[in-house]
Amino acid sequence: MSRGTAIDLCYLVAAIGFIIALKGLSSPRHARTGNLVAAAGMALAIGATFARTGLGHIGLIVIAMVIGVAIGVPAARLVKMTAMPQMVAAFNGVGGGAAAVVSITEFLGSDPKTLATYKVLEVIFGVLVGSVSLSGSALAFAKLQEMMSTRPITYPAQQVINGIVGLTILGFVLTILVTSSTLLLWILLGLSLVLGVIFVLPIGGADVPVLISLLNSFTGLAVAASGFTLDSNVLVVAGTLVGASGMLLTRMMSVAMGRSLPNILFSAFGSVVTASGSTEGEGGRSVRAGTPEDIGTLLAYSRRVVIVPGYGLAVAQAQHTAKELADTLLAKGVEVFYAIHPVAGRMPGHMNVLLAEANVPYEELKEMDEANPEMPATDVALVVGANDTVNPAARDTPGSPIYGMPIINADEAQHVVFLKRSMRPGFAGIDNALLYDPKTTMLFGDAKDTLQKLVAAVKKA
Ligand code: NDP
Repeated sequence: MSRGTAIDLCYLVAAIGFIIALKGLSSPRHARTGNLVAAAGMALAIGATFARTGLGHIGLIVIAMVIGVAIGVPAARLVKMTAMPQMVAAFNGVGGGAAAVVSITEFLGSDPKTLATYKVLEVIFGVLVGSVSLSGSALAFAKLQEMMSTRPITYPAQQVINGIVGLTILGFVLTILVTSSTLLLWILLGLSLVLGVIFVLPIGGADVPVLISLLNSFTGLAVAASGFTLDSNVLVVAGTLVGASGMLLTRMMSVAMGRSLPNILFSAFGSVVTASGSTEGEGGRSVRAGTPEDIGTLLAYSRRVVIVPGYGLAVAQAQHTAKELADTLLAKGVEVFYAIHPVAGRMPGHMNVLLAEANVPYEELKEMDEANPEMPATDVALVVGANDTVNPAARDTPGSPIYGMPIINADEAQHVVFLKRSMRPGFAGIDNALLYDPKTTMLFGDAKDTLQKLVAAVKKA
């Protein structure tokens, strides 16, 4: 077997590894294995690339790899679960930027006049999409890290300016295709960076996770384009897999939020905060606040308790205490399970990851469709830091911004207990009538703190 064939074979095995890895990542049960398979595939692809004849600048490549490892490994180990979206944004932006740089370097390294039109098109695509992804992801990172306002940023004639930038870019693309001008390609790179910024500016911080998934898909496509430019099959396959899975994830998040992608990207939803921080809601409606002792007794004497976790569980880092409460109730003979909404939290699978970190057995997790039929026979729905994902307006109030989003039917349980700090709304910024329902009791405070008090109260009951 020739060296070239052996290298191609390694690339093929790596590409198959990436596909198997994606399958593994589709369930928390196999996610770790999936990650390991992907890492092994990537290590094989890198090793095979070093075996290629004619590979230059090996010293520089090794230095770049050492810098990447020195930044990437501690970043991934130290990142908090709630900061995961911004880490993905940062890594994604770097990937998009790398794809743009690869495309432009290939263009500079060849005689542009002799390049076939489709090759020039690949370069333009890589530069355009990679640069949009780089600057867009950098801005998304800044918003999520609260280094700048998380509110949608709008200004007069925004649409007109966006239209002019878009049309100018189109003009440059067509001219570069005809002239193969290097100067125009550099200008296109600059304009694409501007496009990434003006695309992300009007998107509210809370919608940014969906945007990141979309930008991730763009990066994948830019990487696939550089794969074509470099004649690298493994880059084409890896880039296409990232592009396709990012696009699917974006779609799944939009569906689970009951909103269209254009609505998420262009409507500035998620920026409105309406309710106050008091225990009186809109129109002065009052709510019932309970004590840990009352609620502990209610839980201890229940037959079935369903824990509905949400974003607040992640903020409070209360997953271990939630498990402790569940274990205490189980020890008392109470049936307990967790009802998992697909977009609870701020990233797909957020609750699964958090609860897996606390070693909650998978059998105790029920997806929304499986949990909802069980709600009417549930004594207590214990809503821990969730809000929108249990808001009945999504089901019952046409015209509500979240109307159409599937929810966990916590309101069908006999009693509902909310653990949250105030009457403030969740991500969608809208009031939740379930907080004022006569069957609802509020236990105000940080979820970790109130859960600890509930554990003590259940043990005493
Ligand atoms: P929400 O954002 O609706 O509500 C979270 C609640 O947690 C808030 O009302 C807040 O109330 C409470 N909270 C915050 N911190 C704490 C704390 N330390 N202790 C106790 N409570 C706390 O969360 P959900 O999970 O129900 O819904 C997720 C929302 O995010 C949905 O609207 C979804 O569409 C959206 N989204 C989800 C994405 C995903 O992929 N998962 C991506 C993008 C958006 P208070 O301040 O009073 O404590």
